Amino acid sequence: MNQFKPILQGLKEVENGQRRVVNSQKCIRAGGKHNDLDDVGKDNYHHTFFEMLGNWSFGDYYKKEACEFAWSYLVDVLKIDESRLYVTYFGGDDKLGLPPDEECAKVWKSLGLPSDRIIPSSAKDNFWEMAEFGPCGPCSEIHIDKKLDRKYSVADLVNQDNPEVVELWNIVFMEYDRKQSGMEFLPQRNIDCGMGFERLVSVLQNVDSNYDTDIFQPILRRIGDFSRVGEYSGKLGNDDSKGKDTAYRIIADHLRTCSIAIGDGVKPSGTNRGFVVRKMLRRAALASTDILGIDRKNLAEVSSVVIENLGSAYPELIKNKQHILKTIDNEEDKLYRVVDNGKLIFERFLKTLPSAATVFPGNLAFELHDAHGFTIDLTQRLAASHGLTVDLQAFQQHVTAARELSQQQSKMPSKIRTT
Ligand code: ATP
Ligand code: MG
Ligand code: MG
Ligand code: MG
Repeated sequence: MNQFKPILQGLKEVENGQRRVVNSQKCIRAGGKHNDLDDVGKDNYHHTFFEMLGNWSFGDYYKKEACEFAWSYLVDVLKIDESRLYVTYFGGDDKLGLPPDEECAKVWKSLGLPSDRIIPSSAKDNFWEMAEFGPCGPCSEIHIDKKLDRKYSVADLVNQDNPEVVELWNIVFMEYDRKQSGMEFLPQRNIDCGMGFERLVSVLQNVDSNYDTDIFQPILRRIGDFSRVGEYSGKLGNDDSKGKDTAYRIIADHLRTCSIAIGDGVKPSGTNRGFVVRKMLRRAALASTDILGIDRKNLAEVSSVVIENLGSAYPELIKNKQHILKTIDNEEDKLYRVVDNGKLIFERFLKTLPSAATVFPGNLAFELHDAHGFTIDLTQRLAASHGLTVDLQAFQQHVTAARELSQQQSKMPSKIRTT
């Protein structure tokens, strides 16, 4: 929505009188305020990259029409059984000084929803903010019961991170502008709707998981061509005891995100968005070699499938294909240099410990991290394979001390800096 912010704030006129707009947005949620990186792999409906289908009103239609459009699209056009749908609305918030959005509840009632499927909800889920300040407003979400033909209501599973009842669509009634001085009304009332394409496809294809849709299946099959521990079987949590299916999900998800981000000009690096891409490529690489037993340097093969699948919607992927594949390949090379070197140094450190040691010292873990780029999770994994735990508290103290030192140094005149 960034590109629309000045229009939402009434600072810029819409182009060609277009007050009603629809779009499909590339969304990456792997850092900042919206960060789903840690959920990826663990569940089957959060991705770091997803496509968000949006419809917008810039001072045109408002609450009633937005809910009616959403309902009619799902029920009349896509023929989703309405008894599987639940809606939430903003239940008011003292801190924000805003009352419950009863008007919204009434709109849903008028569309025929029984009141036990119209659920008031807290600001955490039903007050949408782009950032600390800026356009914001109460929202109403549509959730779907993914289990077919259930005969009883499961309203209590809404917004509980339950994979059976998943949020599909968020309708934001953007009428406020949050400023340092407090909440103000925007000059016009806007609508910003977002529906997750992958979640919608899983509903339309009647599968439990986004990974079982034809969006992800070709990617998972390609990973399966290289896997030495079997095909993807869709297990979650404790059922996936060796982490195989989680690794498949992480690789497929992260390669989609990294292909898109690199195709849009992000370079893997040690800072900001470049670091997020580097982190994801490394996570995907280690999941593939260490958990699926895949030979090194196969991530670009997976990215080729992503490019093939998304290329018709995003031609920049096709245009930048060679660059994307080369960047992924180079990044893998860099990672394995760090991993191989770090393992040698780890072995050297290990020899200095008493034979009865059960703990790998934090200062050594810090040296591996700081001087050799060997991340703490790699050290932890190696330590565990030798029956050791890492002294994380001491490691963290070293990280904090190093950060403080570098902050102090950056405040000094450059002549007396020590590094
Ligand atoms: P959730 O509560 O499931 O994390 P959200 O409330 O954070 O979703 P919104 O910010 O309201 O999501 O985004 C609008 C829509 O985008 C959601 O209703 C959902 O369909 C989809 N969506 C959000 N986050 C993701 C994600 N990480 N992966 C796939 N789809 C997503
Ligand atoms: Mg979320
Ligand atoms: Mg939500
Ligand atoms: Mg939401």
